[in-house]
Amino acid sequence: MTAAAAGAAAISLPRIALARPAVTSSDNPGTNFIWTPLSRDGAAFRASMGTGDGGNSLIFRKEGFAVLIDTKNAPLGRLIANDALLAFGFNIFESDQALVINTHHHADHTGGNHGFVGKVPVLAHKKAAERIRAQFENYKKAAAAAIRQANASTDEAGKRRKNQIMGMEKEVESWVADTFAPTQVMESDRQEVKVGPITLLLRHFGAGHTDNDVVVYSPELNVLHTGDLLFNKVWPYVDRAGGFSSTGWINSLSRTLELCDKDTIIVPGHGDLTNRSGIRALIDLLLSQSQRARDAVKAGQSREEFIKIPTPEYAEYAAADWIRPITLGGMYDEAKAFTP
Ligand SMILES: [Zn+2]
Repeated sequence: MTAAAAGAAAISLPRIALARPAVTSSDNPGTNFIWTPLSRDGAAFRASMGTGDGGNSLIFRKEGFAVLIDTKNAPLGRLIANDALLAFGFNIFESDQALVINTHHHADHTGGNHGFVGKVPVLAHKKAAERIRAQFENYKKAAAAAIRQANASTDEAGKRRKNQIMGMEKEVESWVADTFAPTQVMESDRQEVKVGPITLLLRHFGAGHTDNDVVVYSPELNVLHTGDLLFNKVWPYVDRAGGFSSTGWINSLSRTLELCDKDTIIVPGHGDLTNRSGIRALIDLLLSQSQRARDAVKAGQSREEFIKIPTPEYAEYAAADWIRPITLGGMYDEAKAFTP
């Protein structure tokens, strides 16, 4: 049996009342994630950003068609589908056509793929597909931990979650690489994707945050999901084994800016909604900190010394305690690798 079939057999949507009007983030206390509507005019074409439990997700929806970008942590695929039903009255699995896109391979953006593979096409960059397959044991570990945590929770949100992932232990044990693997890969680094009346532009600009980053842009709504090429006011996660390149990242962000005008709504991989200023701020951080790392290596400073040096100019950036050492340490290692 393929993993996709195993996953599909074990997943069924619980019955949830359909009659809910258009969403705002505050009028859906029953959803698992916070959904913020992005459409300017409330027209038939909607985009909503979902925050919580991993990278930011984005749903584009028009008529009976939908595109979901990024699927958060394992084992939350079913919960995203449940939210779409609860918040938008939209059943992804009974839509005229739906598509899931992964912006890159990291498990906090692909962990919910198990809820969609085998039911809805899942599209990613070719290199993401390889890396997703290779890390399936990580999804199993994360899912087992999340189920244990949910089972122990006593607050309202925790109980709600417990109900939705209850009994998934067996399913998690059966997961294999195919459970998460994208079923389609990008045909080229510049691709237009059509799902019914929804048209999206996908762009891969080379190595950056990883070696498989994809940005997704809707020209009609002027909404862009950067994946983790943008951490907005959050220390950017550096993953050298995943293909990180500081110059590539800066280049990818500069190319992304070319897709945007002053009104573009930008959904970052992590952090709040922003506009071009968010991208420019991260370019500045990457430029300044990678230069600092090169200078430190040249001056013979140790890695430990370097990552301890305060960065008061980024005092308001989130995740300073755990990502900042990874950002700076990764940049130091990169600089060292390029130093003869
Ligand atoms: Zn990432």
